[in-house]
Amino acid sequence: MSAEKRFTPARACSLDQVPHWDLETDVLVVGFGAAGACAAIEARQAGAEVLVLEVAAAGGGSASLSGGEVYVGGSGGTDVQREHGFVDSTEDLQQYLLMAGGPAADAERVAIYAGNGVSHFNWLREQGVPFKGTYLPGKWIEPPTDDTLLWSGNEKAWPYVEKANPAPRGHTVQFTGWGGGKVLMQVLCERAVQLGADVHYNTRALTLVVDAGQVIGAVVREEGVVRFVRARRGVILCAGGFICNSEMVKRFVPAALDCELPVTGGNDDGSGIRMGISVGAATLNMQEFFATLPFFPPESLVKGIFINGRGQRFINEDSYHGRVAHYVLRQPDGRAWLLVDNEIFGRPVIQEDIQIAAVGETWAEVERELGLPEGALVHTVEEFNRLASTGNDPYFHKAAEWLRPLTEPPFAALSYCKGDFQGHAFTLGGLATRPSGEVLDADGQPIPGLFAAGRTACGLPRWGEGYSSGLSLGDSTFFGRQAGRKAAGQSVV
Ligand SMILES: Cc1cc2nc3c(=O)[nH]c(=O)nc-3n(C[C@H](O)[C@H](O)[C@H](O)COP(=O)(O)OP(=O)(O)OC[C@H]3O[C@@H](n4cnc5c(N)ncnc54)[C@H](O)[C@@H]3O)c2cc1C
Repeated sequence: MSAEKRFTPARACSLDQVPHWDLETDVLVVGFGAAGACAAIEARQAGAEVLVLEVAAAGGGSASLSGGEVYVGGSGGTDVQREHGFVDSTEDLQQYLLMAGGPAADAERVAIYAGNGVSHFNWLREQGVPFKGTYLPGKWIEPPTDDTLLWSGNEKAWPYVEKANPAPRGHTVQFTGWGGGKVLMQVLCERAVQLGADVHYNTRALTLVVDAGQVIGAVVREEGVVRFVRARRGVILCAGGFICNSEMVKRFVPAALDCELPVTGGNDDGSGIRMGISVGAATLNMQEFFATLPFFPPESLVKGIFINGRGQRFINEDSYHGRVAHYVLRQPDGRAWLLVDNEIFGRPVIQEDIQIAAVGETWAEVERELGLPEGALVHTVEEFNRLASTGNDPYFHKAAEWLRPLTEPPFAALSYCKGDFQGHAFTLGGLATRPSGEVLDADGQPIPGLFAAGRTACGLPRWGEGYSSGLSLGDSTFFGRQAGRKAAGQSVV
């Protein structure tokens, strides 16, 4: 029988099935991505022996393909924020993160992160992660330049702006163009190795080993050979989320099936989450996912209006692209269009072949071409134009800087109907943990010897509608560090 059949993540291995220990360590880290690298660094610095398992041939995980954008602020602001004139209080960041976390926000986790964001940013720099410190105004998904501070969420959009003073908090690793995550992960992985973490590549954690309710190690397959690894102080699951596991996606987060493109390095198969479940861990928010339909840049498109099949608006279009995506995805019959006039027309840089569903010299023509009920679209546009010319949007509270009547023909409708756009997604649900990384069972009690961080856990980003760019890397790196310290027997913040 193959190793995968004998040992699967969903069935833990008991000590009596372990013939001998092939390897022993204090702290065993599963996954050498954002959370795993930071957990390894901290556990090593706490004096623990650390062994890291990485299924891929190199470290970095999804984080190494990412934009390298890290969401931090608070404490008056990072030096970068302050240099560019932005004050960012801990209370504002905390309030924003509470809203971003949605109905199941974890107030304790939010408070810890908000209070320590600046020191975490400084810690990343101390490891050698470069942040140039320049500010890029406007609305971007990732900086096309090597600038490193940008607006990366809903800070200036309603309803967030009413509850928390806005500040740009997307701190992006210095790298020209998209893909700064490569630099971030090169630095963090090298640092972990330099500190003495023993990394085993091409090595998959197959399942956990338990004894009397305590996690004491893992069964792994290294270069095709099954090996038994003992972890004296704990196992930290940092194996990413489950967007690559179609069965799990269908079961837990079917709404994400409408997004064609998984946002991943390819190994988010839910193995970490399943290993946790196998020893009694509770899961949280498994239905939540980050989604985006990157309809901007160009930012002129933010001045357009989204309508549904009833000709009605449904969102303030100046919201973060991920929030807009969730609203688009839930429109009746999967029908939604972005209406633009000649002055603001452009093709979204991430999907230049976006389908133009209708064009007309009048909005009535566009309405007819879309097959909408007579007057539905025309009325919506007229009402929008009337109010936009006074700088108001009482229906959806789009900020005045993005309000402009759509009056210059020709007019067009870009299709965001199901099947016409390429949505991108990754999962946000995962194992229930304390901010220390301790994995919790269904009674909220820690499972001895088991920790988790990053997308294997349900962390700071836990509500698709509230996601902001940089939250996943911020969460994975910060709470990965916490888990590393805790597993090594150190105190955590
Ligand atoms: C194109 C792209 C752009 C992105 N941009 C941003 C951004 O700018 N800001 C942001 O916050 N987020 C961004 N993200 C999301 C972010 O990169 C991830 O959510 C983040 O990396 C999660 O960190 P992690 O440590 O949980 O997982 P990862 O970084 O993916 O690390 C998990 C590691 O575990 C390994 N692994 C999995 N299963 C096993 C196993 N059984 N045994 C051993 N190893 C295993 C994987 O190979 C991987 O190396 C982006 C993602 C992509 C793909």
